[in-house]
Amino acid sequence: MHLSPTVTSIVEPATLLMARRSRELRAQGRDIIDLSLGEPDHDPPPFALEAAHEALRGPWHKYTPVNGYADVRQAIANKFERDNGLRYSPEQIVVSTGAKQSIMNVVMSLCGPGDEVVIPAPYWVSYSEQVRLAGATPVLVTSTLEEDWKPPIERIAKAITPRTRLLMFSSPCNPSGSVLSRTELEELATVVAQHEGLYVMADEIYEHIVFEGEHLSFASLPGMAERTITVNGLSKAFALTGWRIGYLGAPLWIAQACTKVQGQFTSGANSIAQRVTKVCMEADPAQLAPMRSDFRRRRDLMVKAVSTIPGWRCNVPQGAFYLLPDVRTSIDGKIIKGSVDLSLYLLDTAGVSLVEGKSFGAEGTLRISYAASDAKLIEAMQRVASAIAQLPG
Ligand code: PLP
Repeated sequence: MHLSPTVTSIVEPATLLMARRSRELRAQGRDIIDLSLGEPDHDPPPFALEAAHEALRGPWHKYTPVNGYADVRQAIANKFERDNGLRYSPEQIVVSTGAKQSIMNVVMSLCGPGDEVVIPAPYWVSYSEQVRLAGATPVLVTSTLEEDWKPPIERIAKAITPRTRLLMFSSPCNPSGSVLSRTELEELATVVAQHEGLYVMADEIYEHIVFEGEHLSFASLPGMAERTITVNGLSKAFALTGWRIGYLGAPLWIAQACTKVQGQFTSGANSIAQRVTKVCMEADPAQLAPMRSDFRRRRDLMVKAVSTIPGWRCNVPQGAFYLLPDVRTSIDGKIIKGSVDLSLYLLDTAGVSLVEGKSFGAEGTLRISYAASDAKLIEAMQRVASAIAQLPG
């Protein structure tokens, strides 16, 4: 058996690994509450499903243009202008098979061996592995709970070298739920402006799940449109994870490079899902308010539940649907050696699937996805609390 050095250099996403383990245990008859996946438990909006039915009756069964149907890209450009104040032409938009592919396209387009990519941590698991897949080097900039899981700008600036090609972040952040403020984004823009040849991948897939204040697009800051690739998708806002649609807006030369990369991997994204995308882009974002208020209520419920577990501490996330408690007091170094061990212990003892924080660049934490019903969340946290109480003090 011979695997390539590229494949051996990367790991399976911790999120997918835990979801797979949960499914296996369920198949054995165990009662597992799965809080490992970043997947809204809401149904997709009816208008999206109607659009899919409609598309099946239309002429949408052949290969699609690599960068997406022209009218879908126009609808995305209109959405960027309406919601984010960003002016992209349809040629600057690329539609992909999930935001994950959009990000991979960006990394492959801009980075190669010898290049560095600065990733403020905690970060979404795939960033570091996608950088490795491209042969480049991820440079992690750590932060703490006390810093609201946001590395201070001086620490980020220090990590930038002449080899840095890209800086990648999500705001709201998966896994911490932290949201970068206008001031923090402006500070970042000032640093980026000082480094010619440095680009930013702003992952805004949780833009509609912000509880306090407004979402601000990094590319809308003065001078940043030329330096930024804005990534978004249907998975979170429209609860359409399985339809696999992501999209990006970028300077033309980067969008063209992304199209070139994608042309060799998957070609154009699924035709029916693209027709659905058009309708989602044209929908009034005000329709997403009920989902946002559900997540807000669950955030409050979960922050309270975490605070009842002795030693566990968390921030109050301003967006997304995750909590990243610091659980170091439950890691004794002997039976539970780290967050990986703790997640396996909780899966086994409590039947609750959470993701270890190490893969997100935050050892000593667990990521809890609260995209589940209130009843399930309450039961999960009761089970977790009693499993933690059983650990030798
Ligand atoms: N970016 C972030 C921050 C995410 O959390 C996710 C999914 O969990 C993605 C990108 C990928 O989304 P998609 O389902 O569109 O590939």
